[in-house]
Amino acid sequence: MLCGGSASRKPAAGAGEGPSVIASWLRSGLSPQRRGGPTPFSLLIPPCVAQDATLFAGLHVPGQATIAAHDAREASLPIIDMHTHIFPDRLAATAVATVCRACGIAPCFDGTLSGLRSFMRHADIARSVVQPVASKASQVRSINDWVAALGDDSIIPFAAMHPDLPDPTAEIERLAAIGIPGFKLHPEYQGFSPDETRLDPLYAAAARHGLIAYFHAGEDIALPAVHSTPETFARLLDRHPDLTVVLAHMGGWRQWGEVQRHLAGRDVYLDTSFTLPYLGEERFAELVEAHGAHRILFGSDAPWGDLSRDLAQLRAMTFSERDLDAILWRNAARLLGLPAEALLTPE
Ligand SMILES: [Zn+2]
Repeated sequence: MLCGGSASRKPAAGAGEGPSVIASWLRSGLSPQRRGGPTPFSLLIPPCVAQDATLFAGLHVPGQATIAAHDAREASLPIIDMHTHIFPDRLAATAVATVCRACGIAPCFDGTLSGLRSFMRHADIARSVVQPVASKASQVRSINDWVAALGDDSIIPFAAMHPDLPDPTAEIERLAAIGIPGFKLHPEYQGFSPDETRLDPLYAAAARHGLIAYFHAGEDIALPAVHSTPETFARLLDRHPDLTVVLAHMGGWRQWGEVQRHLAGRDVYLDTSFTLPYLGEERFAELVEAHGAHRILFGSDAPWGDLSRDLAQLRAMTFSERDLDAILWRNAARLLGLPAEALLTPE
């Protein structure tokens, strides 16, 4: 998650359903503008949400058409989105509204499981990986119980993790036993540096059980401090060479020069979420080239990120078919142990 929020937020009295909340944000003039740079957050309402003509009557909903636009090449590629966020139904409207207001962004779906499923159908996403963030250690167990019940053929849950969890080894063992492939850590929201030695038992247990450590990396839109710098991740990789690590936002949001210096070519996966509009296509391609397309994972950060825009931009760039294939799904399938046949065979 790039910008705050957790499954624990309590709903405000009278919180409405997703589409009506989104419509009310539009009517209240929620700005998609962000600090500095281009306007990366084009509002995209999937047809499944926008189809209620009453709710959205008279509102300009840019980007709606892009989600349905597929050419033959696009439709033939399965897509695995490694980085999405959902919330329990009773919390989703408030959680999404809180994050979007704090960050000045518009969501691309309503933050519920059913909303994600609809979004995936319309955008032709084969698998979505859910990445929950725990604000407090005390939330970890309950969030993980919730995500563990979500998994099916199309939704792949990662677990929440927190640096203050008293017995991380026990939770790692529990997650491994129920087949959760990894966990999310957010150094900015959880206030820790990825290379702190107190986390060594957690990382060692994850490596031992083959669980993937998925990190927010670099700046966060809403926070000034930066704990998750490329240099700290490089030290983590030095100390835990057996740990499988994924870094969101191409290794460090707004720290891509440092990513080139400290992480490019290292044995670590980088996800593409929230990157292209800020980094630009040329520097993005250079970073992929320097790091290796076999270690890049497609991620949208939905509902915060604009998946259709990112996909369109990636497809328009000059990547070879093989590299595009690797980025959009093959690397993720390999990492998650998903058989390619299951993804390539039409259902
Ligand atoms: Zn995220």
